[in-house]
Amino acid sequence: MAYQISATKLQTYHRCPQAYQFRYELGLKTNAFFGSAVLGTALHQTLAQAYRDWYYQEPLPKIDWLLDCWGQHSDSLSPAQAEDGKQILETYYQNFIASEVAIHKPLAVEGKIQASLQVANLEFAIAGRYDRLDYLDGGLELIDYKSTKEVKLPKEDEIDLQIGLYYLALEQRYRQSLRKLSLIYLRTGEKVSFDATPEHKQLVEIVVGNIARQLRTDCEWQPKPGEQCERCTYSRYCSAVQDCPDPLPDDVRSHQPQLQLVLAL
Ligand code: SF4
Repeated sequence: MAYQISATKLQTYHRCPQAYQFRYELGLKTNAFFGSAVLGTALHQTLAQAYRDWYYQEPLPKIDWLLDCWGQHSDSLSPAQAEDGKQILETYYQNFIASEVAIHKPLAVEGKIQASLQVANLEFAIAGRYDRLDYLDGGLELIDYKSTKEVKLPKEDEIDLQIGLYYLALEQRYRQSLRKLSLIYLRTGEKVSFDATPEHKQLVEIVVGNIARQLRTDCEWQPKPGEQCERCTYSRYCSAVQDCPDPLPDDVRSHQPQLQLVLAL
């Protein structure tokens, strides 16, 4: 089995190799990403259906089409959430549908990204998800919807890794280059786009190469103290920020890394 890699894993490694080891090599559980996301999920499902099932014989759907789709995904929401979602979709409609001459069928919605990369005799399986993939001037535009309350832009180095990973994976899957990664903030109706270039792919190959070297030599995963330590859920185990770090739980110590070598010819 190949070693699994994703944008989140690459970003974690870039932030701090020690945190990467805690999370992915030792399997320490974190509850950092728990929480209610039902409204966000319903919005994502609505937009996926709206673009996937629209019949595209008229240039633009009416707002009713979006609201019909919303009706099929908002059952489990509270009345306040359902109303909130409806207003968010009305804003979306005005900003991204009504303002267009026509909308075009996406290449895919709610898609999975899968690709492979071989570095230093190790095989890495790349996995990820995206919300929408559109054709764009001889290339591709990958669109992710964000349902956060504020427009919180990703850090430049972290978005660069995400772009590079998508670039690499989409090139393998579609034989086309990623031209743009766009984030649509549903609550504010803003769209932020980042250009994608082959340099982003090269950056990912360098970072994956570093991980490969680390895995092959089994050397220590170095802590990288910085502002990220304030939000790190593993800080209690980390000798870089604790004089007396907590011992790791017993079941974690026996965790085996998911590593498989690929034989070179
Ligand atoms: S506390 Fe800081 S140095 Fe330690 S694992 Fe977390 S991010 Fe890395």
